[in-house]
Amino acid sequence: MADNIAKVAGVEISTDHYIDGRRVASPDRFSDLSPVDGSHLAEVSAGGQAEAGAAVTAARKAFPAWAALGPEGRLPILKRFADGIRARVDELAAVETLDNGSLLGGNVHRVVPRAAQNIEFFADWALKLEGHSIDSPEVVNHVRYDPAGVAVLVTPWNAPLMLTTWKVGPALAAGNTIVVKPPEWAPLTCSLMADIAHAAGIPAGVLNVVQGIGEAAGDALVKHPDIDRVSFTGSTDTARLIGQAAARSITPMSSELGGKSPFIVCADADLDAAAQTVAGQYMNAGQVCLAGTRILVEKSIEPVFLAKVRDAASHMVVGDPRDRDTRVGPLITQEHFDRVAGFVDRAKADGAEALWGGSRANFGALYFEPTMFTNVDPASEIAQREVFGPVLTWQTFEDDDEVIALANGTDYGLAGTLFSRSEARAMRIAGKVTAGTLWVNCFFVRDLAAPFGGARNSGIGREGGAWSFDFYSDIKNISVRKGSFA
Ligand code: NAD
Repeated sequence: MADNIAKVAGVEISTDHYIDGRRVASPDRFSDLSPVDGSHLAEVSAGGQAEAGAAVTAARKAFPAWAALGPEGRLPILKRFADGIRARVDELAAVETLDNGSLLGGNVHRVVPRAAQNIEFFADWALKLEGHSIDSPEVVNHVRYDPAGVAVLVTPWNAPLMLTTWKVGPALAAGNTIVVKPPEWAPLTCSLMADIAHAAGIPAGVLNVVQGIGEAAGDALVKHPDIDRVSFTGSTDTARLIGQAAARSITPMSSELGGKSPFIVCADADLDAAAQTVAGQYMNAGQVCLAGTRILVEKSIEPVFLAKVRDAASHMVVGDPRDRDTRVGPLITQEHFDRVAGFVDRAKADGAEALWGGSRANFGALYFEPTMFTNVDPASEIAQREVFGPVLTWQTFEDDDEVIALANGTDYGLAGTLFSRSEARAMRIAGKVTAGTLWVNCFFVRDLAAPFGGARNSGIGREGGAWSFDFYSDIKNISVRKGSFA
């Protein structure tokens, strides 16, 4: 089917777009390098106006038939899609690891199976949307979830397959057709996803993939006048640009953005569990939007808790993400490495002190040591800006009001984590922290039925469960006067 094939981790992958059920090549290509060892993985088609236009046209053409299938008609096709992902877990996991440096074990056991679940869960959920009505004294309100049309889905490199299927699942289940713009720093698993969708019998034009650089392919897609939804996951700065494009055509936009999430440890917490969870924030080299990067510790337990975290962090082995023992893999690119190192250098210049780490790790070119800064001014850059690397800050608090103020003291509001054995105290603090998700005595638990998103600069809107269908549907109320029909 494809002209341009890369072989990565033994898997053959098309490096071209997937438009209207066919592979389409662009004369312009961009290089995809592995952060694991710097090896050259692929030369990928770099799309622009022409490819974006062709993909939106194909999606528009395919929309009426896909929408007309209804949730029952789409269900078996989407189940085959999910099964196709499950059948290729090992291949997808191996490719994702080489492409973005994420841990192989996590990809095999959690991330890729979750991608299959993203498709299946929303296909099942769509069945619930039919027959919803609200009884009023004079009328019956028949609530319909009509497919919105063509949805453009733009996703980042830190978990491309998982974050893309999180949008693909509900968008397709709701009856939309889609154009996916994968991240240029890790584009390969989204290309495999297109093959799997094709093999599952998803009709031509229903799912399209346009590869390319954000400022070209992404920009052309989000500015296209004939789209009905934009769902974006990525940085706050890019969201501002996409928001401007969406505003011109009043295209509904959902955005899941960066964070600088607080991790609160109260004196009465299970300190061993909390310390292990703090160390876990270094996983995938901290390139996790939800990571609790600001460790806020109740003053009375500081020395004992610091010793536990130091010990737990010392077991966060830096190395090749394919090795079973590795917990901290590479940063994604040299550009991103330099960005992370820049934050660290400026933090030191601002007077912050590295309790551990603070330098390039003694491994490959893109590996950075797990780092913890103390003596951090809450107003300083290192306490305010998202680093997206294995860099945490350590601050203390004396009472609830102080920790709530610290927790809320950034422009972000994506997530938060809190450890305490007191339910009353935990719920009081949790209720006052501004965040889309607040974990109490746990971390990173995400039920697909629960709302997900961010407050403030961390996003617009919520996806997950019913919230996804609110976004990917045109919701209509057909309000019928009772007794008015013959
Ligand atoms: P990014 O904003 O640079 O890129 C994200 C996507 O947007 C890529 O596909 C890119 O090509 C595209 N893009 C870039 N410029 C564009 C433009 N002008 N128009 C249209 N598309 C454009 O983000 P990134 O560096 O890939 O990802 C890291 C960021 O993503 C971090 O801030 C992280 O916190 C955030 N993130 C958030 C979540 C979440 O669920 N909230 C999840 C993962 C990552």
